[in-house]
Amino acid sequence: MTPLLEEAVQPRSAEPVPVESIPADPMLPRPFEVRRVNAETYDTYTLELAPADGRPLLFRPGQFNMLYLFGIGEVAISISGDPGRPSPLVHTLRAVGAVTRGLSALKKGDVVGVRGPFGNEWPLDAAAGHDVVLVAGGIGLAPLRPAIYRLLAERKRYGRVVLLCGSRSPQDILFRRELERWRSRFDLEVAVTVDYAAGDWNGLVGVVTLLIPRAGFDPSDTVALTCGPEVMMRFATRELERRGVPPEQIHLSMERNMKCAVGFCGHCQYGPHFICKDGPIFPYREIAPIFEIREV
Ligand SMILES: Cc1cc2nc3c(=O)[nH]c(=O)nc-3n(C[C@H](O)[C@H](O)[C@H](O)COP(=O)(O)OP(=O)(O)OC[C@H]3O[C@@H](n4cnc5c(N)ncnc54)[C@H](O)[C@@H]3O)c2cc1C
Repeated sequence: MTPLLEEAVQPRSAEPVPVESIPADPMLPRPFEVRRVNAETYDTYTLELAPADGRPLLFRPGQFNMLYLFGIGEVAISISGDPGRPSPLVHTLRAVGAVTRGLSALKKGDVVGVRGPFGNEWPLDAAAGHDVVLVAGGIGLAPLRPAIYRLLAERKRYGRVVLLCGSRSPQDILFRRELERWRSRFDLEVAVTVDYAAGDWNGLVGVVTLLIPRAGFDPSDTVALTCGPEVMMRFATRELERRGVPPEQIHLSMERNMKCAVGFCGHCQYGPHFICKDGPIFPYREIAPIFEIREV
């Protein structure tokens, strides 16, 4: 790899990324075989992929891969599996367009190309010793799930851990069985709300930001991780700040259309940043001036 490319794929991180997790050639997709496609909801699917060469793809919570559906196209998808168990490689995607629809229709044994892992990580080391609040909207729970696995695996390092999830409707709730399992733990506070109740839903109704004022955490000593639609993250950020969480302790995972994923093509430029290599996770303080402008 050229030094320039090496620098481009080395994400901003407190610690250097282990050498084995840096792709040998970030532009060359590695073949992965589909092991399982699991329907999470009516439009969201989890893919389990096994490396054709048997080498697991190591990653950090918050990182993403470029998934290449041969002949159709390539899209950025966050890794939603457990960083402590990198094989199979797990991604969860909502079928919204040609590539994601094609990926969700794959069958066991089909092959996809994988480039990555790319991007930086949730600041879990910096959060050690503090309370951690995760605010997820819809499919935003998928990029947060590796962070939840890591927090639970190293539970003693953290203060209170609170997971707040919002979905459009009960049918849209992602990882339902896992949420129920997490909710039964005494060392994790989990709250789930839906925008619109339907059927036999007896849970909370309302947007996810309504959960923030009633959650049990110490705002001045909290690191907040949020992922979801931008409008949701805007309101979540305001609510977290209103409760007293300092802006440098609020972290957002941003999405923009991207092509190369290594900071060359410029598709994902976000003000002075490239989401692919400076992000996708940003401290709110760093992007606050442009985050409030919807057109950026
Ligand atoms: C760093 C990063 C991580 C991502 N992680 C995930 C992930 O874990 N899971 C996942 O499902 N997606 C994720 N995405 C988003 C995904 O890359 C896009 O949805 C992608 O554009 C889909 O490609 P497509 O060809 O299927 O649809 P496109 O042809 O790109 O889009 C089809 C239509 O759907 C609309 N659309 C595109 N994306 C969305 C969306 N997210 N919600 C609603 N409508 C949309 C478009 O505006 C367009 O009208 C991520 C994006 C980035 C940048």
